[in-house]
Amino acid sequence: MHIVITNDDGIKAPGIHALAKAAREFGKVTVIAPDRNWSVCGHSKSIGRPLRVDPYDFPEADAAWVCDGSPSDCSALAGLKFLDEPVDMLLSGINPTPNLSQDFTYSGTVMAAAEATYWDLSAAAFSIDCPRMKQELIDFSPAVWALPRIIELLTEYNLPKFSFLNVNCPNLPIEKIKGIRLTRSGTRIYNDVLVRKTDPFGRPYYWFGGDPPESIEEEGTDGTVMKDGFVSITPIWQNMTDYQLLQTMKSWHSELWKDYE
Ligand code: MN
Repeated sequence: MHIVITNDDGIKAPGIHALAKAAREFGKVTVIAPDRNWSVCGHSKSIGRPLRVDPYDFPEADAAWVCDGSPSDCSALAGLKFLDEPVDMLLSGINPTPNLSQDFTYSGTVMAAAEATYWDLSAAAFSIDCPRMKQELIDFSPAVWALPRIIELLTEYNLPKFSFLNVNCPNLPIEKIKGIRLTRSGTRIYNDVLVRKTDPFGRPYYWFGGDPPESIEEEGTDGTVMKDGFVSITPIWQNMTDYQLLQTMKSWHSELWKDYE
C-alpha cells in the first residue's frame, strides 16, 4: 500500500512526523506537505501561479516533498500523478487542535482529505483536542492509537466518491481513551471577537481574537463523544445541500419556481 501524507501545519510540524512514522507500519509512505503553516486555509487551491515542489529530508518517510502551495495543492499533486507510483490513500494531520462540526470548512487539514477524494483516493483527516495554549505539551499518541483502525476501515470498505473520514481524538493518555465511536457533525459556537489595535506606524489593524470555539452538548455528535473520551469518526460527504430547507422552500414564493417543478 502506498500512503501519501500531508497536513496544514507545514512539513516541520511534529504532528506530520508522528503520523508518517505510525503509517509506515502499513505500507510505503510519501510525504507531500506545505513549506509553511496553512492552518485555517480551508479548501484553498492554487490556480493563478505555478507550484514548486522539492525533495525534503524526512527521516520518518520513504520519500518526502515540500511544496509552496496549500494542503489541497499537496493532495491534488498526489491525486494527479505527481509521483511515479500509484497512490492508494491520503492521510492528513495530525492537526494539534480539533476540527469538529462546522470547523471542517475552515480546516486545511480536513479539506486536504476532501480534495483527495476528487481523485479517487481514500482519505482521512486526524486532529487532536489539545488546547491552543498547551501546544508544547501535545502528545500525538491518541491519533497513532486510532490509525490502524482507520486504515482498516479505509482498506476493507470502499467509501462512496467524495466521502472521507474526519477523525478527532481526545487529548488523553491512551489508557484513558474509552474507544472509537461513529458520530455525526454537531454544532460549534464561535467566540471570536474583533481586536482593534494600532501598528508602530500609526495604522489600525484588526485581528480575530477571543476564546476557542465550543461544541454544543448533544448525544452522538463529534464534540460530545470526543469530550466523553472516545475517538470520534465522522464520515463526511461533500454535499452541503440542506434537504430539510429545500423541502420547506418549495412552499415559499412558489410563483418563482412553480413552472419548473
Ligand atoms: Mn493546523
